[in-house]
Amino acid sequence: MSDGTDEGVIVGIDLGTTQSAVAVVDSGFPILLADENGASLTPSAVWYGKEGEIEVGKAALRRAGVSPVVTSVKSLMGRAAGEGQLDENGRLDTPAGPRTPEEVSAEILRKLKTVAETRLEKPVGKAVITVPAYFHDGQRAATKKAGELAGLEVVRILSEPTAAALSYGLDRLDENSRVAVFDFGGGTFDVSILEMREGVFEVTSTAGDTQLGGDDFDELIAEMAAAEMKVALADLEPLERVSWLREGRRVKHALSEDDEVIFRMPFIEECQVSRKVFEVKMQTLLDRMESCCRRAMLDSQIDPTDLKAVVMVGGSSRIPVVKRRVAEVFGMEPDLSQHPDEAIARGAAIQAGILAGTVREVLLLDVTPLSLGIETMGGLMNVLIARNTTIPCKAGEMFTNAADGQKSMKVRVLQGERELAADNWELGSFEVPFAPERRGQARVGVEFRIDADGILSVLARDTATGKDTVIEVGSAAVDVTESKVEQMVSESVEHAFEDMNARVFEEARLKADELLPAVEVALEQAGEFLEQEELEKIKIARDGVVEAIQSEKAAELKGAVEVLDSATETLAALLVERATGALFSGS
Ligand code: ADP
Ligand code: MG
Repeated sequence: MSDGTDEGVIVGIDLGTTQSAVAVVDSGFPILLADENGASLTPSAVWYGKEGEIEVGKAALRRAGVSPVVTSVKSLMGRAAGEGQLDENGRLDTPAGPRTPEEVSAEILRKLKTVAETRLEKPVGKAVITVPAYFHDGQRAATKKAGELAGLEVVRILSEPTAAALSYGLDRLDENSRVAVFDFGGGTFDVSILEMREGVFEVTSTAGDTQLGGDDFDELIAEMAAAEMKVALADLEPLERVSWLREGRRVKHALSEDDEVIFRMPFIEECQVSRKVFEVKMQTLLDRMESCCRRAMLDSQIDPTDLKAVVMVGGSSRIPVVKRRVAEVFGMEPDLSQHPDEAIARGAAIQAGILAGTVREVLLLDVTPLSLGIETMGGLMNVLIARNTTIPCKAGEMFTNAADGQKSMKVRVLQGERELAADNWELGSFEVPFAPERRGQARVGVEFRIDADGILSVLARDTATGKDTVIEVGSAAVDVTESKVEQMVSESVEHAFEDMNARVFEEARLKADELLPAVEVALEQAGEFLEQEELEKIKIARDGVVEAIQSEKAAELKGAVEVLDSATETLAALLVERATGALFSGS
């Protein structure tokens, strides 16, 4: 960078459930970086030995038959202790001892960092890491933590659909064109609608299912085969089960090409799996996928005809019936131009390039995938930031005490779309103490802020203790701290819309102030030469402007002024005629 200190490159990382990849922008093109074996996709698998040895990726999977390997750790990121395979300390059991999901993910990231450093022949300290659009704040924060553990400064957490769209669309999207990004991976499914507006790339809605992915299809095939061979999959030893699932995956991949494939388990039988039967069994899962697609369109208030393209990414997009169903739901042939395994990493690299200044600036706007709010009286969800709000953003509300003499208020931070607090996810909670007051007298302000990485911070404040600070802009402006300046800037952004409205109103009003007396004078001078109908039109338009000024509505006034302006065109022409006529007659 310009100050002489080498800030180093920023890499883009797709930290996937099943596979991960690292990419950079090189001479304007995003490229994936390959490891020493030439592989640019690293299986998201980590193996721990008893002596503390660690293997990542393919090398880890090679040990899968010998001792357990941690896979799909992404699905455990940001989960509460005790959930899934996590123990009461939020750790996973490994032969080397307990490890948090962040620590496991950090091993994958460390490997990708090494791959990048080897390829680029220089140290890599910064990264953009992608997460599913559906990841909540805790999951995003955990991903950031994993990056830090791996020695990477995570300069941005980016939603995967946004990354895919970046990879697809920088040069292909015209003003106002919309695309759907359909990402069907190994563990998650995401669908998002994005729009180009004034050169700004915006996600207008996102829907998905964190429990739907290619793994489900592996299991489906393993179950089909097991039923055929009269084996109870559920009763198998974990390691045995893994090999059934692995064979299920192999067969699934082959079925994307062939109609019939043999499912083989060594020392047991084998059986034939047909694509037809597989497709029938997939229907329930495909229905879930379809309803996500419909929901995303509904949330963006569009129908398929509004879409320029449906960009398919993610490995499961290769399955023929998935493509057919997508074509059906969206009523068009999906766009398969993006490499299903590489698009996300490439998009992350493009974002990294934008942040590093090596790619031309395109403003990226992400949205909150779910509504955020707090629990209020009656156990209800009070939404502070609605789903699909563009981030970064902040929102606040004032709350009061429900009972006389109440000493504190519990703020439960919730995420979700349900009406009842209990049905939503609790992201955290804390007590806000305040001086005991009569019911309804205490005032507690709660503010939610989401930064550009989608990480939420919550602030609550008892206004009675006077901690609220009012900043004076003016001569005192030089004394304000950086954080207050920042606050001021973000507030101005927040009020941009109102400010703009006020400006439109003022401008229209100035014009009206000019126009109204001019019209009166013109009517006096030339009104008699106008048709009655024309005269009426002008008077109606004039009254419209007077009314609009009183209504104080910017858009209405602007419109009314335009109507008056065009209604008086003939009158104005007449005046000009008269003036020149007078000139001629006078000469
Ligand atoms: P993630 O982002 O979740 O890691 P990917 O986008 O890399 O996932 O996709 C991985 C999934 O794609 C796996 O479930 C894998 O089995 C599946 N997949 C890859 N190739 C094929 C194929 N040819 N046919 C069907 N599924 C495939
Ligand atoms: Mg993916």
